[in-house]
Amino acid sequence: MPSSSNNFHVLVLGGTTEASALCRYLEQEPSISATLSLAGVTKQPHLPTLSVRIGGFGGTDGLSTWLKTHAINAVIDATHPFAATMSQHAATACAATQIPLLRLERSGWQEMLGDTWLHTANLAEAANLLANSQKWNTAPQRIFLTTGRKELAPFKIAPQHHYLIRSIDAPNPASLPLHATILLDRGPFDVQNEAKLMQDHGITLLVSKNSGGSATYPKLEAARLLHIPVLMIDRPAACPNIPTVETAQHAMAWLQAHQAASTRRKV
Ligand code: NAP
Repeated sequence: MPSSSNNFHVLVLGGTTEASALCRYLEQEPSISATLSLAGVTKQPHLPTLSVRIGGFGGTDGLSTWLKTHAINAVIDATHPFAATMSQHAATACAATQIPLLRLERSGWQEMLGDTWLHTANLAEAANLLANSQKWNTAPQRIFLTTGRKELAPFKIAPQHHYLIRSIDAPNPASLPLHATILLDRGPFDVQNEAKLMQDHGITLLVSKNSGGSATYPKLEAARLLHIPVLMIDRPAACPNIPTVETAQHAMAWLQAHQAASTRRKV
């Protein structure tokens, strides 16, 4: 529960570097009472000294109830660019409860000179290309698959390839494609080590979501250096009409403006 000594309460929907950065600002801002919400996906998350709740809210209705019960004044949706369900739930619940919502989302990566990116709309389309496209169906690849441990099962439809899979926690063995090597590691990573890893494993193709940010960008720099093509999974569409900022600092400024407006309304 947020502390009752201050009366501007914010819910931060987290699970990203940006959410962690915002929490560090909020730790220094005693006039705003904050709760960080995590889905509970990572077994040992880095936690702030703020109030933390873990686990789903039970859909849009559950979130609306939670926001009202905890007298939340503002919500920051700082979930991952690919956490589209949570963002949609936040948009719907905040509209229903008339609570201001801000999206904190890092910008996506842009293709640069020297990159060879093939864009796909989603995970299923990427897996389907690997399984059925003329380019890859009879040409087994050594793939560095960096989509996250929860998103491996679609690639079972392309068992002719070998997959190097890196994740923070071990994936469910039942979700793995036939030929898989697992590497447990947590970023940030640097370009030299990424290039060495790809060379050591004879990688011929990198599969990545367009997550953005600096922590996992070195894999793309390494792919550029080694002339390794990238199957890039584009971001899901953003919720329309939600104000959006890219940095924790800007989110903090938005919160302070809302807190000031809320104080003015009370006097
Ligand atoms: P999702 O598909 O958008 O959400 C699925 C369900 O998980 C939501 O409906 C919600 O359950 C619960 N949930 C998601 N984020 C939550 C949060 N911050 N607090 C409480 N409940 C949450 O989300 P996802 O893609 O599985 O991502 C889960 C978490 O991992 C998010 O916090 C996200 O920021 C983080 N993450 C995701 C990715 C990625 O690539 N998707 C990468 C890095 C980190 P209810 O409906 O029951 O409320």
